[in-house]
Amino acid sequence: MKKNTVKSNQVPIYRDAGFVLVDPDTTKRAFKDELDHPRSPDLYIYSRYRNPTVVAAEEKIMELERCEWALLTQSGMSAIDLALSIFQTGEGTGNWLFFSEIYGGTNSFIDRVLKFRRGLNIERFSPNDGVYDLLALEHMLNSLKPEVVYFEAISNPMIMVADAEAIIKLAKKAGARVILDNTFATPYLWNPLEMGADIVLHSATKYLSGHNNITAGVVCGNDPELKKSAIEYRKYVGHMLSPDDASRLSSQIRTFELRIQRHCDNAFNLSRVLHDHPKVETVLYPGLPSHPSHETAKKLFGGKGFGAMITFDMAGSDLKQKGEAAARFIQAISDTIPLIPTLGDAGTTLLHVESVWGEKYPLPGMIRLSVGIDPFDKLKEAILKGLEQV
Ligand code: PLP
Repeated sequence: MKKNTVKSNQVPIYRDAGFVLVDPDTTKRAFKDELDHPRSPDLYIYSRYRNPTVVAAEEKIMELERCEWALLTQSGMSAIDLALSIFQTGEGTGNWLFFSEIYGGTNSFIDRVLKFRRGLNIERFSPNDGVYDLLALEHMLNSLKPEVVYFEAISNPMIMVADAEAIIKLAKKAGARVILDNTFATPYLWNPLEMGADIVLHSATKYLSGHNNITAGVVCGNDPELKKSAIEYRKYVGHMLSPDDASRLSSQIRTFELRIQRHCDNAFNLSRVLHDHPKVETVLYPGLPSHPSHETAKKLFGGKGFGAMITFDMAGSDLKQKGEAAARFIQAISDTIPLIPTLGDAGTTLLHVESVWGEKYPLPGMIRLSVGIDPFDKLKEAILKGLEQV
């Protein structure tokens, strides 16, 4: 039968679990090269090892993160496991330093997997009054001599921006390898590998895919030895993204820059509306000159933007009143801005901080907005209407 010769500018979805191998010699070569990333169509073996649809999406991310390699996984959490496991070689655990203001799931992973199950020596570095003290960090690095330092440039849910360039320099001077979760800032705002980080990872569930319709993760780097180790770990643990999700990611990445530009512009403008509103007490957004990280964010992101996450606290005479105000606002606005516990979707979504992180942040009036790419006037109107009902 004649093969289909239709020309397409989409990446085909290869759903094969195992691929047809040409002959025994090619099979030998394929298995020998399995830890590499060739484009040769003859060298694909099995989709848990590598898959052409997934490779095509990885190449798109390599362009965005300006890196030598990118490996997709089936969630941000598996990307975190992959990135951290590269450095667990069984030759003694050493010390690992994690910044405290990172994604809650990562913090739980540290406690329940790295410490409890794998017995790693974990230390945490916390900010002072919403700012990471670099002198205190230097002191800790010198006394701890950690093998790995792990942090995020924009913290969640307090939207604090770390002086990442200085932190990377200090960590490298102390001999540590640096892993950065760049989910919130995105490669649109900055590329941590260009500033010396060893590994950058993302929950691609968020801005990279941008439509709240897949879960995915990615680990990026330049070092070929780390790449080898990462490919091996992904293969044996099976942290591979599915070709269908990779295809969706590839299509949605085409609009990445446009989306993030609009996300950032909308958030910048909306932060001012919230800041000037009498029913809002505090707005945490690094684009506001009053924010403690404003200058750091300007320097780190080179004026490209300040991200699209805003956390704000409702006005009220006490916590009870603030909590009631937040509940009324969330209810009033739910048709246009839904309560969804994720972020980075093209549509604006919100989350009630205390319901998710009540132990760490017992602040019932606090709401985290993931600002979308909606027409700004509509977004502003929805927010103002919601606040009117409070
Ligand atoms: N990193 C950050 C900063 C996140 O916000 C999340 C999830 O919200 C993750 C990692 C985990 O990603 P996923 O939910 O895709 O596993």
